[in-house]
Amino acid sequence: MSSAIEESYHHRARKRFGQNFLHDEHVINRIVKAITPGPGQKLVEIGPGQGALTAPLLAAAGQLTAIEIDRDLAALLRTRYGGNPGFELIENDVLAVDFAALAPGPASLRIVGNLPYNISTPLLFRLLQHHPLIHDMVFMLQLEVVQRLAAGPGSGDYGRLSVMMQYYCEVELLFKVAPGSFTPRPKVDSAVVRLTPRRPSPFAAVQPEALARVVKAAFSQRRKTLRNTLKEVFSAEQLAVLPIDTGLRAENLSVDDYVRLAVLVDQDGTSA
Ligand code: SAM
Repeated sequence: MSSAIEESYHHRARKRFGQNFLHDEHVINRIVKAITPGPGQKLVEIGPGQGALTAPLLAAAGQLTAIEIDRDLAALLRTRYGGNPGFELIENDVLAVDFAALAPGPASLRIVGNLPYNISTPLLFRLLQHHPLIHDMVFMLQLEVVQRLAAGPGSGDYGRLSVMMQYYCEVELLFKVAPGSFTPRPKVDSAVVRLTPRRPSPFAAVQPEALARVVKAAFSQRRKTLRNTLKEVFSAEQLAVLPIDTGLRAENLSVDDYVRLAVLVDQDGTSA
C-alpha cells in the first residue's frame, strides 16, 4: 500500500461506511460548480471523508459543517481544517443528527455530499422530513437511485422513492460519474443529483403519513391493480368512488393522483 514517500496518513477504505473516495479533479470541480457555494450560506456536508469536496467548499463559502461517522477520518479532518474558524465537525452518524439544530432559519440549509450508498434511501427519507429547513441538496448517489428519484409514471424505475421525493422536491439529474473517478472503484455507476424543495408547492397540502401510506400500499405489489393494493387503505365504498381508475397499476398514477388519494385518507380519518 504505502511507500515512504506517500502522505504520512493512509486511510484504508471501510466498506461498512460506504467509503469510495473521489480523486477525479474534473468531477470534483463539476460538483463544486453545481453547488456554487457562496459566503453566508449554511453548507452542511454529509460524509466529508478525506476532504475531496470539503476543501474547495470551505474555501468558497468560508463556512461548512461536516458530518462524519468514521473516527479516523474525523481526526484527519480536524487536523487539516480544525484551525479554520468556519469549519465545524460533527462526529456522528448522520441518521442521528438533529438538522433542526443546525438550521439558522427556514429554507436555509444547503446539504451536499458524496453519500455513503448503503444508507442513501433511509437518509433521503429522513431529509424529506426536514424539507422546510432545506434550501437545496446536491448529492452523489448510485445512478440507479438517481434514476428512481427522477422517474416519471409508466417507467419501471417509478416507485415509492420517486413519488415521495417529487412531492417535496424538484429532482434534476445533473451528470453521471463512472467508477474510475473513485478509490476504491464502486461496482456501480454514480450520478450527481440536485433536489430543490418546491416553494411554493404545486401540490395540495396533505398529511405526510397519509401520502406515505397510500404510496406504500400501492407499490407493495407493483403488478397488482390499485383495486387490490389500495384495499388496506380504503373501504369498499371508498374504493368504488375514488377519483382514479382503480383498474390501473401503481406505476400509472402521477404524483398529483397520489396527492388526491392522500387527501381522501385525511378526510375520512382512515390514516393510521
Ligand atoms: N466526500 C468524500 C469523497 O467524496 O471522497 C467521501 C465520500 S464516501 C462515498 C462516504 C463518506 O461518508 C465516508 O467518509 C464515510 O465514512 C461517511 N459515512 C458513512 N456512513 C456515514 C454515516 N452514517 N454518517 C456520517 N458519515 C457517514
